[in-house]
Amino acid sequence: MRSVVAALLVLIAFPALAQVDLRGQMVQGGVVRGQTLPGAQAMLDDQPVRVSPDGRFVFGFGRDQATRARLVVLLPDGRRIEQDLSVERRRYVVQRINGLASEMVSPDEAAMGRIRREADQVSEARRHDLPEPWFDEEFLWPTRGPITGVYGSQRILNGEPRQPHFGVDVAAPAGTPVFAPAAGTVTLAEPDLYFTGGTIILDHGHGLSSVFQHLNSLGVKVGDRVARGDPLGAVGATGRVTGAHLHWGMNWFTVRVDPQLVVGPMPAD
Ligand SMILES: [Zn+2]
Repeated sequence: MRSVVAALLVLIAFPALAQVDLRGQMVQGGVVRGQTLPGAQAMLDDQPVRVSPDGRFVFGFGRDQATRARLVVLLPDGRRIEQDLSVERRRYVVQRINGLASEMVSPDEAAMGRIRREADQVSEARRHDLPEPWFDEEFLWPTRGPITGVYGSQRILNGEPRQPHFGVDVAAPAGTPVFAPAAGTVTLAEPDLYFTGGTIILDHGHGLSSVFQHLNSLGVKVGDRVARGDPLGAVGATGRVTGAHLHWGMNWFTVRVDPQLVVGPMPAD
């Protein structure tokens, strides 16, 4: 329903629809995929956004994105289309998780060094701006099961306030296969990161990437190209967890977006 509303807003916002077409949700955490003319250029809030040779582009809004953003598209004939986008605010729930090992909530100094190095490694993997427009595929759920954690929630771990939760958690038994939700190139494949355990980052092009965490086995390595639906590894309970589940996060470069808004509802069966 919300996507229908967003589509209508887009129709109103862009009378020159033949030149710029947007699909996605104008909401905090949302991902917007666009189509314009071949040879056009795009900018979101004055930052250039890669446009593929056939005119496709993508951008995303963070958890606390301001309610306005400005998209500028320069058409190949020199015309300039400027549009203020209205971004809907979301309310985020508070999630309390208890029973975590204390070193997973308040790591000591030695662990902090390792955590910082790993964070740099992850940031580096998210810096790529690959030219392939795989982001434009219809996304699949990488695994299925009950959703036990959602994007944006405030986290209280063993009673201590911590970073919000940036992703969706799907409970599944250890060993359950995890599949690529869309095509991509593997830019990180690490079996044992401190907080996230077995971790894979799959780059869908133009800065949109998925991260899969807490895996107990990895079936791909850095540089591998995978198609939508290809196996990546298996669900586990590695890193900071209370039980086996898949954490699926999504980024547009450094902006953390909500994969649930991209993939849609989980199929019932
Ligand atoms: Zn999670």
